[in-house]
Amino acid sequence: MIYRWEELTGKEFELLKPEIAILPVGTIERHGDHLPLGTDNIVPSWIAEKVAEGLGTDVIILPKISYGVTATLAKFPGSINIPSEVFMHYVKHVLLEVFRNGVKYLVILNGHGGNTRELQVIAKEVSSSTNLSILIIDWWRDVAQQKRHEIFQYPGHAGEDETSAIMAIRPELVKMEYAKDHMMPYPALKIYSKKIENELFPEAVNGKATLATPEKGKEYMVAVVNEIIKAIKEFLSKV
Ligand SMILES: [Zn+2]
Repeated sequence: MIYRWEELTGKEFELLKPEIAILPVGTIERHGDHLPLGTDNIVPSWIAEKVAEGLGTDVIILPKISYGVTATLAKFPGSINIPSEVFMHYVKHVLLEVFRNGVKYLVILNGHGGNTRELQVIAKEVSSSTNLSILIIDWWRDVAQQKRHEIFQYPGHAGEDETSAIMAIRPELVKMEYAKDHMMPYPALKIYSKKIENELFPEAVNGKATLATPEKGKEYMVAVVNEIIKAIKEFLSKV
């Protein structure tokens, strides 16, 4: 059964005593001129529902964390950037409260690269100070990589893959007439520089958005959902 934390009454929650929970985490960030600002929230929230349906066990979906660390693209209108330390403090306390309410296994479905490092630090801290076991999944890079390479020539931020995903999930939100292409590979070295960031995202796109189709998105999302279900089952069998 799927339960949604914010839709249960307190009494229902008490009787349910959920042990397995899914927390979608994203951000509000510019995705070119053609994708919604909430792309990184919309995708993991959709995945959470599909994964919960396919898991075959009781699972509770937490209200998503909608605001994240969007430092790189903060300069673009529409982006909302939360500083790392504020995000970490806030999300850490959400995790601690989830644990205090009896959850033992938490899957964080992350939709935004700017949150990854922060979530890892928090998960380490919380799992070592409590008995909460945590699995973090960056949906676009931790699963279905073979499928991703098979389907997409130029994936990337607001690129072929992300645009196809939103076309499959919420087609009415995609404005393909404004889709643009920009291809610049990420540097292999860990370089931190405003110059490089500007070259990577001159218009908040890196990839070939114009190659996106809903069919590619559907094929990709099916693989993503199936592999996440597998990963969660493996996680639950190990902890
Ligand atoms: Zn995104």
